[in-house]
Amino acid sequence: MTDSALNDGGAAAGDPRAAELAGRLEAVRRRISSAAAAAGRTDRLPTLIVVTKFHPAEDIRRLAALGVTDVGENRDQEAAGKAGILADCGLTWHFVGQLQTKKAKSVVRYASAVHSVDRPQLVDALAKAMQNERAATGRAPLDCFIQVNLEDQAGDAGAHRGGAAPEDVLLLADRIAAADGLRLAGVMAVAPLGAPPEPAFAKLAVVSSQLVAQHPGASAISAGMSQDLEAAIAFGATHLRIGSDILGSRPAVG
Ligand SMILES: *Cc1c(COP(=O)(O)O)cnc(C)c1O
Repeated sequence: MTDSALNDGGAAAGDPRAAELAGRLEAVRRRISSAAAAAGRTDRLPTLIVVTKFHPAEDIRRLAALGVTDVGENRDQEAAGKAGILADCGLTWHFVGQLQTKKAKSVVRYASAVHSVDRPQLVDALAKAMQNERAATGRAPLDCFIQVNLEDQAGDAGAHRGGAAPEDVLLLADRIAAADGLRLAGVMAVAPLGAPPEPAFAKLAVVSSQLVAQHPGASAISAGMSQDLEAAIAFGATHLRIGSDILGSRPAVG
């Protein structure tokens, strides 16, 4: 196999899906660098996490061959299955979905990071799971992002996309920082539906700076999806979670 066959995800070998993914990935990478330039950002480009939920493991294998290193999933069962199948790809797995405490044990077997830490019970469950996992495997600490709720107020439960209230972030941060096996990475948020993302990401940037004042190492900001990655980059995102603009639309379930 030539180098180009290795690096194009199979596109040169006549795999049309690989060619499609290569084109979409390239377009997203271009959007990221343009947005970083437009925002005057001179730090390193944000980490691109390709959110692969609902898409088959073969697509993730194609993405790995195209140079993707970080993937995101939002359901434990699906993620665990894919991580098992793709163990040879050397990928970093990010868990980005709402997480039940009883799933913590499973998630820490494959995930390097959890972006949806939003309550003390989940911190405790992850810490306990990591204690056992580290004793068994010696794995690296789990990166924890505190998910922040950016909805205006409690109000419409239907629109709630998860996360801790901004005023609860520092207490959660202290709890994560105090736990063996957990590393406080920073904050994460999903922009509210049906509203411009800029005010929400501006609010997240404020929460992030308050967090960094207490925990200088916790400077990561996981924000930005297909529709709003430019806005997220303008407000300091360090980790982008992009699904549909790379993989296409998801099957209409879940
Ligand atoms: C699905 C998902 C994404 C990716 O969304 P797209 O709009 O497909 O880019 C990002 N973050 C979370 C938490 C998700 O569940």
